[in-house]
Amino acid sequence: MITIKGGYKHQRKIVADVIDWFRYRMKLTYLLSITIRIKPMNDCYGTCEKVNEYNYYIELHGDQTIRNFVMTLVHELIHVKQYETNQWTGDGEDEAWGLQADLTDDLWKENII
Ligand SMILES: [Zn+2]
Repeated sequence: MITIKGGYKHQRKIVADVIDWFRYRMKLTYLLSITIRIKPMNDCYGTCEKVNEYNYYIELHGDQTIRNFVMTLVHELIHVKQYETNQWTGDGEDEAWGLQADLTDDLWKENII
């Protein structure tokens, strides 16, 4: 189940659409529980926490451009994929930073946003 809290209506719609797209793209279409809270954040743009099996909590900074907002969400979802596939190197940040822009470009090219 995807639960989206906070933010504006258009932001919640974007989050739902991006998560749908990402799950098909990464073949994570089985039951996953992701709770997203959009809120003002002071020290970073987003965080991702594995709460327990199949259960994730993501926080997103709401006050950023749409592109950066989407890219932050994509970044945090890459961490979900890393947890789910049990595959990452180091702290996983290199992969997340390396993929976030290309995946965000694809969202625009495929008219998801
Ligand atoms: Zn990260």
